[in-house]
Amino acid sequence: MDFQLNEEQKMLKKMVYDVADKEFRPKAAEWEASAEHMPREYVQKLADLGLLGLCLPVEYGGQGRGAFEAILAIEGLARVSCLCASPVFESNIGPVKVIEQFGTEKQKQKYIPPVCTGESMISVGMTEPEAGSALTDLATRAVLKDDHYVINGMKRFITGGGNSDVYVVYVRLSEQKGAKGIGGIIIEKGTPGFSFGKQEQFMGMRGFPSCDLIFEDCRVPKENLVVKEGDFRKLMTAFDLERCGNATMCLGIAQGALEEAMAYSQQRKQWGKDICEFQAVQFMLAEMAMKVEAARLLIYRATVNADTGLPVPLEANLAKCFANQMVREVTGMALQIHGGYGYSKEYPVERMMRDGWGWGVAGGTIEIQRVTIASFLLGRRFDQRK
Ligand SMILES: Cc1cc2nc3c(=O)[nH]c(=O)nc-3n(C[C@H](O)[C@H](O)[C@H](O)COP(=O)(O)OP(=O)(O)OC[C@H]3O[C@@H](n4cnc5c(N)ncnc54)[C@H](O)[C@@H]3O)c2cc1C
Repeated sequence: MDFQLNEEQKMLKKMVYDVADKEFRPKAAEWEASAEHMPREYVQKLADLGLLGLCLPVEYGGQGRGAFEAILAIEGLARVSCLCASPVFESNIGPVKVIEQFGTEKQKQKYIPPVCTGESMISVGMTEPEAGSALTDLATRAVLKDDHYVINGMKRFITGGGNSDVYVVYVRLSEQKGAKGIGGIIIEKGTPGFSFGKQEQFMGMRGFPSCDLIFEDCRVPKENLVVKEGDFRKLMTAFDLERCGNATMCLGIAQGALEEAMAYSQQRKQWGKDICEFQAVQFMLAEMAMKVEAARLLIYRATVNADTGLPVPLEANLAKCFANQMVREVTGMALQIHGGYGYSKEYPVERMMRDGWGWGVAGGTIEIQRVTIASFLLGRRFDQRK
């Protein structure tokens, strides 16, 4: 396995680090404090740099590069703030990938190009009030009537909710229970019968829009079906790439926290010397670096192997589960190294800790990820209902 970045990847990484430090770092605390969405002009900046649609096909306005390049960009931005990385995440390996992989030609031509220019954002609607980890219990129903699906139901905690223009929504297409009846449909904001609940107030990831999606006799043209009934596995395989993005958000946040802790430990003096001279602090820094690097290798492996397609599910799940746990531990240690100042909003590590926590819930909890990993390892499915 080659662990060296090629020249293009090195240039991409440097460009992302520079823009993250110069343009986004000064804004991160402000956006966090106001919990405002990132202003559109900053999304445009990312688009102008070619970071949106990096790994989408050239014929639909993308750059045709691999998932790994998108991951490098997400990592570089998330080390400053995961909010800054979110448009790169969504426009590369978010639900747009479902359309790219499984959509019709017409869907690809309509929905992918505006994502690459930053004019449109796509969210994924899976979770429901009564179907979180037990996703295959979802009850949002789509009934085909003539040339339209009529949709009724509700989705919960949808990142981008209210702000995104397009939603890939998991629906039940027949009375078949479990995964068998589930497919995916594209629903545009503004469709009659589609409304939004109030915005969530989360502990972290402030500035990320999130709300319920409400469907009341919402009529969607039948050509918006993107994944047909019975192809739930396809939805999940595409989602495994999104899980690599989730893991990368954790990696970026943890890398940022490590950098903060390294700097602080060389500035802060106690007992007449830099606190990095105490072995307890050195051990924490070493522990943090080991965890960050281990997560990085798992994520890089999964995404290099995905190339321009989708990852090996076991590799994606290992990367996500490890990174989700890792970021909680690493940001906790960074906060500890900062002492009382780490607990203060004057320093960014408390935000990193709050932001980091959410990724181990979003996209499948750490516990469910473990069940999935065991299932892949043993080649057996473990029905949680029995
Ligand atoms: C920041 C954030 C962003 C999100 N973004 C989106 C989004 O864009 N789109 C979307 O569709 N959803 C989104 N979600 C929802 C997320 O996917 C769900 O919250 C998650 O799947 C867990 O579901 P739940 O909250 O209903 O928890 P529950 O499923 O009720 O779980 C509660 C607890 O029970 C544990 N548990 C449940 N079942 C088992 C089991 N069989 N074995 C062991 N432990 C178990 C869980 O691990 C957890 O600790 C987001 C959530 C958050 C916090």
